[in-house]
Amino acid sequence: MKVIDHINQAKDTLFSFEILPPLKGKSIQSIFDSIDPLMEFKPSFINVTYHREEYLYKKRENGLLEKVTMRKRPGTVGICAAIINKYDVEAVPHLICGGFSKEETENALIDLQFLGIDNVLALRGDSIKTESTFRPHPDGHEFAVDLVHQINEMNQGKYLMEEVSMAPTDFCVGVAGYPEKHFESMNLKTDLHYLKQKVDAGADYIVTQMFFDNQKYMEFVNACRAADINVPIIPGIKPIKSMRHISFLPKFFHIDFPEDLGNELLKCKSDKDVDQLGIEWATQQCRELKEFGVPCLHFYTMSNSNSVQQILKGI
Ligand code: FAD
Repeated sequence: MKVIDHINQAKDTLFSFEILPPLKGKSIQSIFDSIDPLMEFKPSFINVTYHREEYLYKKRENGLLEKVTMRKRPGTVGICAAIINKYDVEAVPHLICGGFSKEETENALIDLQFLGIDNVLALRGDSIKTESTFRPHPDGHEFAVDLVHQINEMNQGKYLMEEVSMAPTDFCVGVAGYPEKHFESMNLKTDLHYLKQKVDAGADYIVTQMFFDNQKYMEFVNACRAADINVPIIPGIKPIKSMRHISFLPKFFHIDFPEDLGNELLKCKSDKDVDQLGIEWATQQCRELKEFGVPCLHFYTMSNSNSVQQILKGI
């Protein structure tokens, strides 16, 4: 079933979450171990992130450095198929522009269709860790909107090889939105302009970047509606977990902690303190968001299901 159908048919706030593929070498059991504790809450769908290649430098015997390419977290599509098979729940693979030619994208989508996966989250992807700006594949897409266009074309039976006639696909497409604006965007208005393009190109719903101030989400939803963006906007919730998160989350995800939360974080002395505060803060956020009428609460578990379990029990 498609994510958008789950949303349209829902009688109450839905619950979903996102997991990362395990590091290369770890088994699928580590994924099941992080999903199992959350199944009692009946997630409507589970997202699986996509991680592109990184460049590493290995020192050779002659002292010279050799540049090698490596993907540390492969397996997005395989994990989605395993989730559907084991739990009979929708799995949503993230599909990115970075590193893919248009043909590789088309082939990846055909694979998904063969596996019975008809939900995707279409993203541009970030730059490779060692590169300062995003560089598209020479035959690929520069922005997520171009990827949404390609999926929409396939949904109309238009493939890259015009001479081959193929059955239309039937993908439900989600895209990313940023209540605190995307870090490369000049301002929120410009960002919303491009978000609208993604929706006009065929995106069925939006999932937001994590945020810790519900006011920012609510203002974002209002700004979207004013800009004629009318699809469901699913809030992304991240429970803060460790002392490291205090500086890592704002730096990596370009988000702010509101002052109240910042003051409480400053009082924390250990990971345990932060974990407890993270659960309490996210629980309060979820209660308010439910009241605001959000279609679904989407959790960034980052393979830490314990906090999410506590939050769901709390609401
Ligand atoms: P776009 O929508 O393409 O936007 C990128 C920037 O370009 C924005 O500043 C936008 O305003 C601007 N822009 C858009 N269109 C145009 C245009 N036509 N002309 C000029 N400027 C334009 N990354 C991963 O690598 N793997 C994942 O699995 C992953 N999952 C994510 C899930 C969620 C819910 C979110 C919010 C993010 C995720 N990301 C993931 C991170 C995401 O890839 C980055 O934030 C990336 O920098 C932007 O992706 P986007 O799809 O929002 O890009």
